[in-house]
Amino acid sequence: MNNTNKFLKTLQERRQMAFFFDMDGTLINSMPYHSRAWTAIMQSIGIDFDIKDCYLEEGRTGHELLKNFVKKYLKKDLTEAELQQLYREKSKLFDHIQKVQPIEHVCDVLQFIRNELQAQLWVVTGSGLEDLWERLNGYFPDVFGKDKIICAYDIKQGKPAPDPYLTAWERSGLPKENCCVVENAPLGVLSGKRAELFTVAVNTGILENHYFEEAGADVIFPSMEEFLAFLQQ
Ligand code: MG
Repeated sequence: MNNTNKFLKTLQERRQMAFFFDMDGTLINSMPYHSRAWTAIMQSIGIDFDIKDCYLEEGRTGHELLKNFVKKYLKKDLTEAELQQLYREKSKLFDHIQKVQPIEHVCDVLQFIRNELQAQLWVVTGSGLEDLWERLNGYFPDVFGKDKIICAYDIKQGKPAPDPYLTAWERSGLPKENCCVVENAPLGVLSGKRAELFTVAVNTGILENHYFEEAGADVIFPSMEEFLAFLQQ
């Protein structure tokens, strides 16, 4: 039996399950604004960074993204203070330009998981926003508990390392086969697969599907609507 059939069997048997949702590009349509903010910040320090870089690198924590690109293109290391300063500037710019909404049909998916499957709902993100839960609760009132968010401060190594999803899995208290990662980014898919969890890619962005196949996604959907139909079958 392949992974997808095993997962569907777990669903149909109505076992206790947990869904681990990435945030940016999976729950909320924030990626266009992140891309614009990152491109502006990187270009301000002389790094030729474009929108596709942002989608390909998505999932890393902001600090890791900055460190990697500065090392690669400027051949130097940033001090902790410089890193924090740049990340603050990027966050400020993001806040200034963002008009974020939930991803289309994701609220229906969350409702189905909560009401029909009665499964645990987690957010697993590399974001380091200090008011993360307040923001999430604004977009999705009373859906995510404060104790079910794994963010940049909970882990040592961000995606594509398995740590974020492994941490969520450990805290869920469930067997791995009862868990499902939902991602929109190749590095996030890689993180889910390295944690040996069933990983769904919902391609809400600009990348071709082969990036998700190469990262090892168990199944790829073009929209949350298609993911919902899969869960409801
Ligand atoms: Mg994402």
